Amino acid sequence: MQAASKIRQLICDFGFNIQTDNKNELHDLTYKKIRKLYPEFPSALIQTSRDVAIEALKKDKLGRKIKVKQMSALRYDKRCLRVSFEHKFISISTIRGRIKLNFGTNKQLNRYIDWKPKAGMLIYRNNNLFLNVVVEKEKPIIQQATAKDVLGIDRGINNILVCSNNQFFNSKDLKRVKGKYQYLKRVLQSKGTKPAIKRLKLISGKETRFVTDVNHRLSKAIAESDFKVFAFERLSRMTKKSNGKRFNRMLGNWSYNQFELFLSYKAEALGKQIVKVNPRYTSQKCSNCNTIKKTNREGSWYSCGCGFQLHADLNASRNIANLGISEISRLFVNQPKVTTI
Ligand SMILES: [Zn+2]
Repeated sequence: MQAASKIRQLICDFGFNIQTDNKNELHDLTYKKIRKLYPEFPSALIQTSRDVAIEALKKDKLGRKIKVKQMSALRYDKRCLRVSFEHKFISISTIRGRIKLNFGTNKQLNRYIDWKPKAGMLIYRNNNLFLNVVVEKEKPIIQQATAKDVLGIDRGINNILVCSNNQFFNSKDLKRVKGKYQYLKRVLQSKGTKPAIKRLKLISGKETRFVTDVNHRLSKAIAESDFKVFAFERLSRMTKKSNGKRFNRMLGNWSYNQFELFLSYKAEALGKQIVKVNPRYTSQKCSNCNTIKKTNREGSWYSCGCGFQLHADLNASRNIANLGISEISRLFVNQPKVTTI
């Protein structure tokens, strides 16, 4: 990793000095030199290091000199890394040749047993080496769905999510924990001392991991439910739905986008679909008779002239589900009908 960082530095310096991020040009200019300096360094790793260096040069548009950290993460591809989940070993290129390492197993790993390892990233942190493995799997066939398979999902105010099947995901825990972190962060920020800043960083990391964990659990529960199509509103309505500053501070940071991303890939892996619908009027429309009337909604309650009454977020999630249903039937109708004559 030390050698790789130096190689990357060398390529970055060359690129910056002669103002190029062209792959072939940089290869011609640096490859022989690198080979001479690091004769034992695997050539496949020179190539991945060069790719990473070029990405850094491109990102900065050659605008500044790049400083590569010592022991930077090292990218591996198929040529320099082999991972077998079945036989529980990795074979990895190093400066001292190829080495084979066995590993144990755990529940987390078993979930990917039928996935194909594709690439990896070697990371050095807290005196340990970690290998992040990128895995891939072919998309499963999309499950056929009818109206009853569509779940509408809305973001509530007092609930994180409200689903059209009357399921409410409560945000008490999230509010409590986020509130605690917000308080700690404010205290530490006002202190401003070096240890306080260190603590602040630690707490921010903890908070991020907490939210990620909540999102993983939520999206897993929903993806694995009996529904086959998940309908959302297309745009963020979070700000519009704000319920005062306090709420925004508490839940504004709740990463809804991350939730959507997690649900999307978890659903996709199961052959389920995500449908994004137009958010217009979803909270003003009656999900029973389709009348649109703003004043029908009062706080968290929706009541229509047709006699229909419901929790406002639930009413909105049912509208989202209905829009999702028309969307999937439209997709179905637009599929070509092949007739042989
Ligand atoms: Zn109505």
